[in-house]
Amino acid sequence: MKHNAVVLGGSVAGLLAAAALAPRYDTIEIIERDILPAGPQARRGAPQGRHVHAMLPRGLQAIEGLLPGITERLEAAGGMRGDVLGNARWHLNGRTLRRRDIGLAAITASRALIEATIRAAVRELPNVTITDGHDIVGFATGRAVRITGRHGQGSRVVPATLVVDATGRGSRMPQWLAALGGAAAPRDEVLIDVRYASRVFEGDLLGDALVVVTARYPGQRRSSVMQRLEGGRVLVTLAGVHGERPPGDPAGFAAYADTLAVADTAKVIAEGRPVGDAVPFHFPAYVRHRYDQAELPPGVVVIGDAACAFNPVYGQGMSVAAMSAELLREDDDPRRFHAGQARLQDAPWTLAVGADLALDGAPPTGPAAMVRALQLAAVEDADLAEAFIRVTSLVDPPSALGAPWIAQRLQARQRPPEEQTTA
Ligand SMILES: Cc1cc2nc3c(=O)[nH]c(=O)nc-3n(C[C@H](O)[C@H](O)[C@H](O)COP(=O)(O)OP(=O)(O)OC[C@H]3O[C@@H](n4cnc5c(N)ncnc54)[C@H](O)[C@@H]3O)c2cc1C
Repeated sequence: MKHNAVVLGGSVAGLLAAAALAPRYDTIEIIERDILPAGPQARRGAPQGRHVHAMLPRGLQAIEGLLPGITERLEAAGGMRGDVLGNARWHLNGRTLRRRDIGLAAITASRALIEATIRAAVRELPNVTITDGHDIVGFATGRAVRITGRHGQGSRVVPATLVVDATGRGSRMPQWLAALGGAAAPRDEVLIDVRYASRVFEGDLLGDALVVVTARYPGQRRSSVMQRLEGGRVLVTLAGVHGERPPGDPAGFAAYADTLAVADTAKVIAEGRPVGDAVPFHFPAYVRHRYDQAELPPGVVVIGDAACAFNPVYGQGMSVAAMSAELLREDDDPRRFHAGQARLQDAPWTLAVGADLALDGAPPTGPAAMVRALQLAAVEDADLAEAFIRVTSLVDPPSALGAPWIAQRLQARQRPPEEQTTA
C-alpha cells in the first residue's frame, strides 16, 4: 500500500481516478469545490451537464472495469442500454448509416445521472473520502496541496504521495507549474467556436432509437444530437461551429433545426412537449496539454479535461477520462502514465481534428476522402457501418479503417454495376 493520494476535482474524471487508485493506496481524498448533490442534479461546476452527453462503448467498458456493476446501476436508475449502431440513427452526409446490432453496448442517460451513479459507487469504496465545498488553492511546498473551505471551514494543507489534477477545462496546473518555477507544458489548440443550444422535450419521440446523430458535413456547420434521458424525456442539442449560433428562443430553435440535413430533429421539436427553456454553451477551442513532454513536480498526474478537453461534439471526454483512469490503475508512475495517456489520446484527438479540418468545404483528400467514401458506402453496407462505428466508439483504432477488405469493398463500389455483379 502506498499512503495517500489526493484527487483534485470530484467530477467524472476525478471519481474514476479515485476508483482506479483505491486498490493501491491507503487513503484517497477527493477535493471538490461544489457542494455535491445527493442525486442526479445539475451543479455549477459541471455546466456542460445540461447538454447531450454520449457515453461511447469503450468508455462504458472502462468504467465497468473500474466499478463493476455500474451499467446495471445506471439502468436501474433509469438509464437505457442499447446497441451503438442497432439502437441509434447516424445521419452522416445527409444519409443514414445502415443499422444492425454490432454487439457494442452504449448507455444513454443525463450526465447528471451518470456522474451521480459513479459518485455513489465511489462513495462505497471504504478508503475514499470526498471533501466537497473546498477550493484547491495550489501546491504547498513539497508533495502537498493547499485547500480552503468555501463556507468558513478555513484552510489546510493536505500532504499526498500522489496528486491527481482532475479539475477540468479550467485547470490551473499551468499557473501552478509557473508558480513552482517549472516550464509550461507544450499545448495543442484547435479553434472551433462550438456553440450549443439544448432543450428537453417530453414524449415518445425517437422511436426505437436511443440516440440520433445528425452530423455536419464538409461545407456545412450545423449539426444536432438527440438522446433519450431517464424519465421519458429527450434532450435535443443543436450545435454550430465557426460563427454558427443556434438560437435559444423557441421559434429560432425550431427554425435552426429545419436547416439540418435530415428532418428528424425538426420533427421531434415540432411534436415534443418542451420542458423548460433552451440552455446555451460556448466552447471556443479544444486544448491538449502535453504533460508527457513536461517536467511536473514529483508525484503529480493530470487526467480528464484538465489534460485534454476534446471538441464536445464527438462525445469523447468521459470515455477518454475513463480510459486514462484504467491506465492509472495499471501504472501510477507519473512519467509512464503521461506517456501512456498521450498514446491513448492520439486516436480521439486525430479523429476530431481530422473531421474539423474538413470544415472548409474543399473536397476531402487522402484519409479524409477515404472516410467520406466509407461513410457513403455504409449507408447500404452494414459491415462498413460497423467498421466505422467501432472506430468512433474508440473500440478499434483509426488504422482499422485501412484493412484490405474495406479498400476492396470501396473499390468494388466504384466499378460500373455490370462489373460489380461479376466480382
Ligand atoms: C458542452 C459539452 C458537451 C460535452 N459532451 C460530451 C459528450 O457527449 N460525451 C462525453 O463523453 N463528454 C462530453 N463532454 C466532456 C465531459 O463533460 C467531460 O469530459 C467529463 O465531464 C470529464 O471531465 P472532468 O471530470 O475532467 O472535468 P469537469 O467535469 O469539468 O469537472 C471538473 C471538476 O473540478 C472542480 N474544480 C475545478 N476547479 C476546482 C478548484 N480550484 N477547486 C476545487 N474543485 C475544482 C469542478 O467543480 C468540477 O467538479 C462535454 C463537454 C462539454 C463542455
